[in-house]
Amino acid sequence: MSRSFPRIKAVRAYVTEAKEGDQGVDCHDVNDKHWINGFPTPMANPMSVYPQYTVLWKSWGINALGTMVAEVEAENGECGVGITIGGEPGCYIVEKHLSRFVEGQDPRNVELMWDQMFRATLNYGRKGLAIHAISAVDLAIWDLLGKLRGEPVYAMLGGKVKERLPVYCTTARPDIAKNMGFAASKITCPYGPADGEEGFKKNVEFYKGWREKVGPDFPLMLDCYMALTPQYTVRLAKALEPLGLKWIEDYLPPDDYEGYEDVRKAMFGSKVLLTTGEHEYSRYGYQLLLKSRCVDILQPDISMLGGITEARRLVAMASAHNVMVIPHASSIYSYHLQYAFCNCPVAEFIDMSPEADRIVPYFGGLFLDEPLPVNGFIDLPDKPGFGVTLCKDTLRRPYHRSEDTSREQAELNINFKPSEKAFMPF
Ligand SMILES: [Mg+2]
Repeated sequence: MSRSFPRIKAVRAYVTEAKEGDQGVDCHDVNDKHWINGFPTPMANPMSVYPQYTVLWKSWGINALGTMVAEVEAENGECGVGITIGGEPGCYIVEKHLSRFVEGQDPRNVELMWDQMFRATLNYGRKGLAIHAISAVDLAIWDLLGKLRGEPVYAMLGGKVKERLPVYCTTARPDIAKNMGFAASKITCPYGPADGEEGFKKNVEFYKGWREKVGPDFPLMLDCYMALTPQYTVRLAKALEPLGLKWIEDYLPPDDYEGYEDVRKAMFGSKVLLTTGEHEYSRYGYQLLLKSRCVDILQPDISMLGGITEARRLVAMASAHNVMVIPHASSIYSYHLQYAFCNCPVAEFIDMSPEADRIVPYFGGLFLDEPLPVNGFIDLPDKPGFGVTLCKDTLRRPYHRSEDTSREQAELNINFKPSEKAFMPF
């Protein structure tokens, strides 16, 4: 017996006006004296080539957009929430453009809504902000669907392939992360090619110093945030290989696909794993990395690459290439995905405390009940959707639309009559 399923009544998009230091979705929207802002140890980045912007990341506006929250409401009043980096421009795209593909839809039609949002934004989308906006809406739909079905998202994706999810910690203090029980740790590369030979030597000393503090057996990785060149990457990875470098991450600007191939060729046979994908978008982008077999691990951000709908396609594609998927941060969105797929072995947790000395929610005060790692593991509760409660205290809806506007858009979808003739698009 089929049961009736409520349609989506409205889509809303919000920014947050949280107090300073509450980063929300944007892990770089922090106080100046925060380790992830490059204080006091610098962190190489794409702007490190400009002396004016070498000190603090916020000086070049990494937090200019900030948090965006998408909320979808079903006819029965149940709501789902998805988030991304997008700020007011992201809200504009959701309210003024994407909402027409979602309002009035059956929330079970995730593929249809995703495809329509993606195709309709091709003229200005494909990567970046438009895909962030699609991601937030997609995550909100999955959250709603889970609540309507009374199931966690991981259960809707196929159920658990692991009882507990191990977590590694990205931090300025891998010694503390080790003591907290994390499975591994990742530090950030302080200097790039613009810092010359002296910077290179300091990079090696920096890694060596932490290796000595955490001992030889604790996996220790290096994140280079798009700051290096192929030559510099190979030289650095080879210099750190005898010091037990587990993986080198995000070392090139994301458009340098040939550079990724060059690094793979030069590093073939090395014990150092090559990882990237934090700044890649959609299956089309990841396909380029998979086809050239240039990385061992893909690291999509689930709130940016296209949401769960696109992430599950990427996980399937990666499995056919024997590539692991270890998402960038993403908290609950990564955890639910990783519970459900075999080639997602360990999650990333970024220590967002200013001095990296304690565990705090990755999304700041955005959720009342974000699950946190304990002794190096995430144990997800058996709660519907993504299992978290949005704190709405600081939300503001910059492109407010009336209920009538949503209803008019919804009726276009509800009343659409498919042709009785077979539709054969070839
Ligand atoms: Mg990274």
